[in-house]
Amino acid sequence: MLNVRLPSPVVELHDERLTAAGVRVLLKRDDLVHPEVPGNKWRKLKYNVPLAVSAGTLLTFGGAYSNHLRAVAAAGHHYGFNTIGVVRGEEHLPLNPSLAYAVSRGMHLTYLDRATYRAKTSPLVLDRLHQEFGDFHLLPEGGGNPAAVRGCAELLAELAEPYDILLCAVGTGTTLAGLTTGSQPTIGVPVLKASLEDDIVALQQTAFGERVGDWRLLAGYHFGGYAKRTPVLDAFIDDFVSRHGLALDWVYEAKMMYALFDQVRQGAFSTGTTIVALIN
Ligand SMILES: *Cc1c(COP(=O)(O)O)cnc(C)c1O
Repeated sequence: MLNVRLPSPVVELHDERLTAAGVRVLLKRDDLVHPEVPGNKWRKLKYNVPLAVSAGTLLTFGGAYSNHLRAVAAAGHHYGFNTIGVVRGEEHLPLNPSLAYAVSRGMHLTYLDRATYRAKTSPLVLDRLHQEFGDFHLLPEGGGNPAAVRGCAELLAELAEPYDILLCAVGTGTTLAGLTTGSQPTIGVPVLKASLEDDIVALQQTAFGERVGDWRLLAGYHFGGYAKRTPVLDAFIDDFVSRHGLALDWVYEAKMMYALFDQVRQGAFSTGTTIVALIN
């Protein structure tokens, strides 16, 4: 069994820039849920694990640096189901640390060229994968399916303190799709260029039958795109570590926290606003 720490802690971020604006920020530390499976990855997997156990095998997709593939491999190892990771692009040896970790947890890796990868949910490609690997529970890239959305929604019940706005980084938007079932507005900060609005609505439709909740995406903080970084972002991360002793994940949470401070600086939040920012 995976020994997860739930509910994850909520800690206030003490920062003079927030104090000056009269804004309170509470960090929901989902990164502390499990050392190998960060919180939202666990929440997405929770209701997929029984399906994977009964199928015997879980097959999923990801890029070469995917946190999702790592988390799936760890879950398979702990819960005793086989895992197959379909990786975008060619194999590069030696494996990078993410993929090496996944293999160390028993994941079987297979590779699709970029064009085939784009068509990964087509019947043709799925048939081929079934011919090669037999039966499996299929989990979309990034872990986004209705079971995952339901798992993410459970985070809301862990927020005991009152707050006004919930803030999260958006990769696939699965986490956001679940969090919007709460009573407070949710703001998602996309970490990639693509517009994800339609994908998130589609996820909500499959999970809940309709678009739900008061939510919006705050665009303009992708820093060049998915897994892209700039000197400005790096400087923000360094400054944040020296102020708060917390190294923000640069693919996701650093962009979200940058957006938060930038919006505070621009006066986007009125005095007295309490924001819960999700750290995965
Ligand atoms: C996967 C991940 C996210 C994004 O989650 P989505 O549900 O795909 O939007 C955010 N932060 C971290 C650290 C992650 O690993």
